[in-house]
Amino acid sequence: MYVITYSLRKDEPNSENFYNTVAVFTDEVLIEAGGLLADITEDYYAFLAEGKEELPAKEELPAKEEVILELLMLGILWRVYSGDAMKLGEASGRMLTSLSEIRQDAGRFKPGVDFLKGIMSTLFLSPDLYDNMLAADPDTNHFNMLLLWLEATGEFKQEVKRLRKWQKFLESIPHAKAVDTLESIFALTLWFEVRTNEVLGTFTPNVDRYLNEIRPERYWHEDVIFCGRRRLEYHLNMVGAEIMNRTYRKAFLNKKRKIILLPACMRILPAGKCRAKAVGGAYQCSECSVECSVGRVTKLGKKYGVEVIIVPHESSISNSGNDLIFEEDTGVIGVACVLNLISGGWMLKERGIPAQCVLLDYCGCKNHWHDEGLPTDINLNQLIRIMSGK
Ligand code: SF4
Repeated sequence: MYVITYSLRKDEPNSENFYNTVAVFTDEVLIEAGGLLADITEDYYAFLAEGKEELPAKEELPAKEEVILELLMLGILWRVYSGDAMKLGEASGRMLTSLSEIRQDAGRFKPGVDFLKGIMSTLFLSPDLYDNMLAADPDTNHFNMLLLWLEATGEFKQEVKRLRKWQKFLESIPHAKAVDTLESIFALTLWFEVRTNEVLGTFTPNVDRYLNEIRPERYWHEDVIFCGRRRLEYHLNMVGAEIMNRTYRKAFLNKKRKIILLPACMRILPAGKCRAKAVGGAYQCSECSVECSVGRVTKLGKKYGVEVIIVPHESSISNSGNDLIFEEDTGVIGVACVLNLISGGWMLKERGIPAQCVLLDYCGCKNHWHDEGLPTDINLNQLIRIMSGK
C-alpha cells in the first residue's frame, strides 16, 4: 500500500500492533515525564488553584497526564517552530492572525482568503527552514514570539490557549526559575524525540520523504503549515491520543448519548455519488455500499447504540450551530488523521464534551494529501473497544 506520510498498519493487515505499542510506550512516557517534571507539575497546580477563575467555565483542573501532555506539546512546538518564530515580524504576525480569524467566517470569500493566506504563510512563516529546527534559547520573551507565530498560522488555536496559561505561569515565577523550567521541559522533549523515533518511527516511515520531495508543492497553499508538520509532531499526536483516551474515558462512558464523528475522506464514493443525507452541517450514511468504511462503521454503531455522523472537515465540528454534535449529555468518538487529534480533543473538551480518539490508519484526503483522494480506514477493533468500554 502507498504510504504518504504515516501508516499504523505497516505491512500488516491491521493496526493492532500500533495500538499495543503506543499503549505500552505511553506508560513509559508518563513515568519518565512524571519523574523529570514532578516539581513543575506541582507548582503549576498551585498556580492554577490560585487563579482558578481563569479556567474556562466547563473545565476543571487538568489531570496530571494532561499536564504532562501540555508540557510535551510546549517542548515540541518550541523545538520545531521557535527558530522560525524569531524571524517573524510583529506586524506580519498580527496581519496573518487577523487573516486566520477572517477565514473562519469568510463564507463565499474563503477561496480568496485562502489564496492570500497561502502566499503570506509561505513568505512570512519561513516553512523552508523547518529542516534546520534551530530552536531559540529558553526565555520568556522568546515564548511570546513563539505564541505570536503559532497564532499567525491559524493551526494551533487550542494549543495556544493552553500555552497562554503556561506563559502566565512562567511570568509568575522568578526569571531564572522560568529558564530552568523551560530547560527541564526541553530535556524531556529531547528524550521523547529519541525514544519515539525508536518506538514509533516505524509507523511514520515517509514523513521526511514527504517533507523533502512532495511538500514543496504545498508552498503558496493555505495548508502549507499543516502539511509541513514534522515527524516529532506525528509522534506527539499518537501519544497524545492515547493520553486523552485514558483521561476522558470515564467521563465519556458516563454520557447517555454517544456519537462517532467520521471524516468525509473515509467514504468510498466521491461527494456526488455518495448517498449520505445532509443533516445540519453534517451527513448521515445510508449504507449504500458494503465496501465503504463509513457504511461498516454505521452498521457497527447501530449494534452498539452509537450514532454516526460524517463531517466534511474538522472546522465543521466546531461550528457552534452544529446542534447534532453539541447536544447535552453527549460523548464523542472522533476519528481523524493523526495531526488533528490533540486539537480536536481539546476543542471538544472546551465545549464540555469528553472525547475518545480513533486514528485514521493512514492519511489520504483530497484536500491535503492526494490528488485523487485515497479512501481512508480505521481499526474497527479499536472502535469496538472504545464503544464497549473494554
Ligand atoms: S456507504 Fe455511506 S458513506 Fe459510503 S458511499 Fe454509501 S452512503 Fe456514502
